[in-house]
Amino acid sequence: MNKEVDIVVIGAGPVGLFTVFEAGLLGLNCVLIDNLDKVGGQCAELYPEKPIYDIPGVPFQTAQEHVDALLEQIKPFDYEVFLNQRVETLEEVESENINQWRVITNENNEFITKNVFIAAGAGSFEARRPPNIDSPDDYLGKGVSYAVRSIDTYKDKNIFIFGGGDSALDWTIELAKNAKTLSLVHRRDAFRGALHSEEQMRELVKSDEISLMTPYIIEEIHGSDKVTGVSLKNFDTKEIEKFDADELIFLFGLNKKLGPILEWEIDLDGKKITVNTENFQTSKEGIFAVGDINHYPGKLDLILSGFHETTLAVQKAYQRIHPGERVPFGYTTSNTKLQKKLGVIDD
Ligand SMILES: Cc1cc2nc3c(=O)[nH]c(=O)nc-3n(C[C@H](O)[C@H](O)[C@H](O)COP(=O)(O)OP(=O)(O)OC[C@H]3O[C@@H](n4cnc5c(N)ncnc54)[C@H](O)[C@@H]3O)c2cc1C
Repeated sequence: MNKEVDIVVIGAGPVGLFTVFEAGLLGLNCVLIDNLDKVGGQCAELYPEKPIYDIPGVPFQTAQEHVDALLEQIKPFDYEVFLNQRVETLEEVESENINQWRVITNENNEFITKNVFIAAGAGSFEARRPPNIDSPDDYLGKGVSYAVRSIDTYKDKNIFIFGGGDSALDWTIELAKNAKTLSLVHRRDAFRGALHSEEQMRELVKSDEISLMTPYIIEEIHGSDKVTGVSLKNFDTKEIEKFDADELIFLFGLNKKLGPILEWEIDLDGKKITVNTENFQTSKEGIFAVGDINHYPGKLDLILSGFHETTLAVQKAYQRIHPGERVPFGYTTSNTKLQKKLGVIDD
């Protein structure tokens, strides 16, 4: 994939999503890229069911409802989303007039743009690996996974799920329906997930539909080309037992990593990107930083701050695409183009 686009947005959190709206109002198209398997950033990944009370004009909305509303709001506009991939490389492209950027992901998708919006929050979220196993990623897609992307992969398999939080409990309950065998492995017999999920899981243990292995930790993965077995160590007795296994799913939560952003030679203040608050441009022309990732005097890590920041940044992006032109300004209440797209008024 090699594509030219008006704005490349790194990060599909709330601020990245709202960028599509502001860009769309000015007729600009966007590509959104996120390392996660879903849009919504922290809202979707860390606290989907928590209520947010400080979105202007919205007295109460859960974080996932907020993400869903943003998706609804950007429906009329021209954008594409690329998930499950991290932007690794950001490099300047030779051009005659205004400088351009090449953005490359670890899935080798490549985009050329005059405007890069870094809406990367606290960095890309990455699954925590099992701490005592060397190179578990050698088995990635060959019996080791850190998220469940397709339920079918696990049908009629001997599955071991590791973890003690909501994801581990939820996937245990779901995958037990079609697994050959399923074992939930945790280092202690206490879980951090929702009580009703834990109760459901313990019911499955009682009815012999799954095995609960506590207090156990993983000792070794077996298999040359793909996973064929796993050794588990009892935390109390230190005894090690070996089991046949097809699929090992590690659900130990997520780390936030700034990762590649630190290598893009943009001015930073600690782990945040410094910006000019007139247009939220960074130390490099055509690279903007909006939302939690940026820093300036008085910065607050709130969703509404990010919305303001990206609105101003999009104005500057428009000028870079249409040099010398006045940025069209209009209230959405009188934007007939948008209202036609929304079907509020006839074409
Ligand atoms: C528990 C909790 C409660 C909160 N409550 C509120 C509240 O009530 N009100 C409020 O306003 N705010 C609240 N916040 C803060 C709010 O969630 C953040 O301000 C907001 O999510 C920032 O949005 P963002 O789009 O800047 O970044 P994020 O939501 O962090 O999204 C950034 C995205 O960028 C992706 N990314 C990063 N680097 C890369 C890369 N190199 N390649 C690809 N993708 C990348 C990440 O995977 C992530 O999905 C809360 C936060 C938490 C944790």
